[in-house]
Amino acid sequence: MEQKPKGTRDILPNVIRKWHFMEEMARKLAKQYNIDEIRTPTFENETLYNRSVGESSDIVTKEMYTFKDKGGRSLALRPEGTAGVVRAFLENGLFNNAQPTKVFYIANNFRYENTQAGRFREFSQFGVEYFGSQEPIVDAEQIIMASKYLAMLGINNVELQINSIGCPKCRANFNSALREFAHAHKDELCQDCNKRMETNPLRMLDCKNEKCQMVLRQAPKLSDYLCDECKQHFKSVLSILDSRKIKYSINTNLVRGLDYYTKTVFEFVAMLEDKPITVCGGGRYDKLVAEIGGNDVPACGFACGLDRLVYLIDDKMIAPKDFVYIANTPDVSITEVLAVAEVLRSADIAVETNLTNRSFKAQMKYADKICANKVVILGQKEIDSGEFVVKNLRLGSECTMKASDLVKYIKLDSESIKKITKTFSD
Ligand code: ATP
Ligand code: MG
Repeated sequence: MEQKPKGTRDILPNVIRKWHFMEEMARKLAKQYNIDEIRTPTFENETLYNRSVGESSDIVTKEMYTFKDKGGRSLALRPEGTAGVVRAFLENGLFNNAQPTKVFYIANNFRYENTQAGRFREFSQFGVEYFGSQEPIVDAEQIIMASKYLAMLGINNVELQINSIGCPKCRANFNSALREFAHAHKDELCQDCNKRMETNPLRMLDCKNEKCQMVLRQAPKLSDYLCDECKQHFKSVLSILDSRKIKYSINTNLVRGLDYYTKTVFEFVAMLEDKPITVCGGGRYDKLVAEIGGNDVPACGFACGLDRLVYLIDDKMIAPKDFVYIANTPDVSITEVLAVAEVLRSADIAVETNLTNRSFKAQMKYADKICANKVVILGQKEIDSGEFVVKNLRLGSECTMKASDLVKYIKLDSESIKKITKTFSD
């Protein structure tokens, strides 16, 4: 039997509602902040990622799906969203519009990773990018927006970690101090970190190896090396968050996995089975647009990992949809069942009918099993009299009504129904 490739998943009907919910809330949030959607290609020229994500990043060194097409072009499947959006911003001259440019995307990414809980080879992100403003309000607005998104999904037990990694100016001094520290602890650091200390010392702070993490806790702190401008910028971001009562903790070792960040970086960390898991990450990247070949355009963005968030969404956030089962007695023709079903469907009510020729009793059982909340009983008697019986399976009540009142009744909320019906126990 054919099997799916390692690190990929089928999203089956039993969880798709959570995905729809995450996507719906993302679009709703974007609307509230007046952000339009952008869709970029699933693959780009490989060079785009080498230049933007960074030659020394984990993504470029070991995680990218690269291939040559039949014309010999070197391409890569999208490993993250920002680079393609920056390219599109430049290639389409979006910088000519009134700034800032604000866009969001919901898209799948591909990374050749060691698979484990919450780490897949194909995964999706909801991301937001703002171009054209270096103001701290932008960083703060995005953090506020990301925390609002998590709240909309009903995810409350999350910690916001934040740091400033400064600009290239402050980082140059820090990098040499960090390299010096790393040389002194060479033997305690992993092989990768031994390479990183030469190529890009900052990367060491993002190492997943616990022993490295422990050693690096004693390393010099970037916060001691920030220039006045970066210090002031960070202070302003934090004071806007304070004014909105957004709780955060400053994590001086937070650098994030990609090379292009400057100043503010942040992550939202949730708990999954008692283990911390990063569900959203972002930050400012003032040098990336120029790096990809444009003018110096400051920018800031974040991305939420939907495959991780989906674990954290409670079932009650996606209350079963309101839908009706029509149970018919054998004397009723298909034409008559369909006539009623189509009236309800045209009123946007989800309706299922007897598709497998079940007996009346078996239909009632089935309606219960699929969690239909209302059952319309259709016998020849009902059709002749024009009066229908509707059973409310959630409330355990039933009501007889004129055919013309059916749609109105089905659309009533539970409270109103309780007022007009007698429960079975009465
Ligand atoms: P990590 O440190 O966990 O590897 P990252 O720094 O590589 O994360 P980003 O590139 O910042 O991650 O992506 C933002 C978010 O996308 C992450 O916080 C996470 O929620 C999600 N994400 C990243 N990689 C994966 C993956 N392989 N599978 C599922 N979700 C992922
Ligand atoms: Mg990673």
